Amino acid sequence: MSHAPRIQHEHSFQTVDTEPEWILSDQKHLWHPYSAIDSGLPVFPVESASGVRIALTDGRKLIDGMSSWWSAIHGYNHPVLNRAIQNQLSKMAHVMFGGLTHRPAAELGQRLIDLTPPPLQTLFFADSGSVAVEVAMKMAIQYWHSKGHPDKQEFITIRRGYHGDTFGAMSVCDPDTGMHSLFSSILAKQHFVDAPVSMFGTPCETADISQLKQCLIEVGNRSAALILEPIVQGAGGMRFYSADYLKKARELCNRYGVLLIFDEIATGFGRTGRLFACEHAGISPDIMCVGKALTGGYMTLAATLTTQEISGAIADGEPGLFMHGPTFMANPLACATALASIELLLDSPWQDRVSRIAGELETGLASCRDMPQVTDVRVLGAIGVVELSKPVDMQTIQARFVDAGVWVRPFGRLVYVMPPFIISSEDLETLTRAIVTVVKSL
Ligand SMILES: *Cc1c(COP(=O)(O)O)cnc(C)c1O
Repeated sequence: MSHAPRIQHEHSFQTVDTEPEWILSDQKHLWHPYSAIDSGLPVFPVESASGVRIALTDGRKLIDGMSSWWSAIHGYNHPVLNRAIQNQLSKMAHVMFGGLTHRPAAELGQRLIDLTPPPLQTLFFADSGSVAVEVAMKMAIQYWHSKGHPDKQEFITIRRGYHGDTFGAMSVCDPDTGMHSLFSSILAKQHFVDAPVSMFGTPCETADISQLKQCLIEVGNRSAALILEPIVQGAGGMRFYSADYLKKARELCNRYGVLLIFDEIATGFGRTGRLFACEHAGISPDIMCVGKALTGGYMTLAATLTTQEISGAIADGEPGLFMHGPTFMANPLACATALASIELLLDSPWQDRVSRIAGELETGLASCRDMPQVTDVRVLGAIGVVELSKPVDMQTIQARFVDAGVWVRPFGRLVYVMPPFIISSEDLETLTRAIVTVVKSL
């Protein structure tokens, strides 16, 4: 009993002028994405989130421009998704997927197979985007092994890509921004060609594709696959490139006997104006990864899809099994939420919403074009990017956005937004006005 006052003190929360204790604890002990412990950079405490608004513990409400990194396409705290997860919770939160199965997994798998390009017929549930990429790379290697080409274990990709943070995925991220030098002795050496300069909506220039062709000629016989983020290079630079490049890459992969992997983790589920970005090019990959918006931003879930040809070859080869199996594979809560999120998307006028957002981003960000500190403004689907001539100072810019009542999280020279599809024109205008004001003030 004599401890009571002290315990009370330790658990006493926010007073007027001090940070709550859990914030101090966070600063002292927790890593955030790409951060340092005790960096002095602020993290803003969130109380709740609903619709397109993120409510901070101090009562401020921010209009969300990030969809929590591409994922919360329906906004936060959505009644339909809440109901789906609660229904599933009343049955079971999880069971192992080894030797057991359940309806949410089977139904979600079928849905994804029906929605993605027809050759993709089999599916592996992974627990994050990075793992889905690892799985895709392993599938490609096991396929060639089964086909009598155990020497095909390398990968080809383009610079400025981003595919995740685990070692396999990292090996195909941009070597410079991915800091490959830091991990050089453990990281697999892959083959990089320059990212295409032919921009979205334009035909592919010969120089772009001849570099890829040259690479395939030189290392195609020891490469398992070409891996690309179709149309949009996300975290590696927010670049939008020619659909024609993808068509030509597909032909070259066929010609030189290399599989094609599309990483649609950022682009999937409508973000670029098509359900999947590969639809802009009218082609299908041999292996495709989806993640991020799959559960509407509720929980971590990803999937790697492939063809009967590849899954059949893996089954027929040595050891006759696909060598991967996460503990939380096909988590029922995540699968049930994903299924509800996909229905919600398909039942909504998402194409109209995305094209309306595209138009409003164009209009709203246009005045940035004339600013001396801005080198480019580009919009594709519900993605808006303002590229600056110099890297931003995170400490300053982050606080300015919060003060302006919006949640925008720049990186490097990029100020970009990909708001939830449900954002109203009025909120989007507030968001773009804040970007214009903050960028102007730099
Ligand atoms: C975010 C992302 C990943 C990694 O997904 P995680 O869930 O963060 O592991 C992989 N590829 C692309 C294109 C991404 O945008």
